[in-house]
Amino acid sequence: MTDLEFDISGLREQGMLEFARQVEPAAAQPLLAGAAVLTGPLEVQLRVVRSGSGASFSGTVEGGWEFACVRCLEPARLRFRAGVEGSVAAGQNVLDVSEEMRQALSLALPERARCREDCKGLCPRCGADRNAGDCGCPPEGPVPYGRGEVVA
Ligand SMILES: [Zn+2]
Ligand SMILES: [Zn+2]
Repeated sequence: MTDLEFDISGLREQGMLEFARQVEPAAAQPLLAGAAVLTGPLEVQLRVVRSGSGASFSGTVEGGWEFACVRCLEPARLRFRAGVEGSVAAGQNVLDVSEEMRQALSLALPERARCREDCKGLCPRCGADRNAGDCGCPPEGPVPYGRGEVVA
């Protein structure tokens, strides 16, 4: 079994199973398709409940991931916590949550990851990282008039 598969053969007798597992980043990284880099193991908690002839499951996935900051391009390391849920067809002894996990992670992706709330970004003139200090460029202002193309 992989890190994202759970043995649910005990469900017939017990009616409900609970799992808590650390999933190694290497096992979950492919689910992100390059959108982020996991910085450590994922904490996965699942509860599987028999319903009718099948079962349903719900739980959470938590971890940390890294992006390039949209302002300064330095690593932005963030924590996340997402809900994961789905159903299990009748007669299954192994629950594979990789598809549900992929959906949960892609919904949890931040739209604009920043390394910190007040990231100052890069100087539009010289490209320096303004979090590291003042680059000495004159303050931003309108582009001086008269630099455009001359129209005869
Ligand atoms: Zn930044
Ligand atoms: Zn500058």
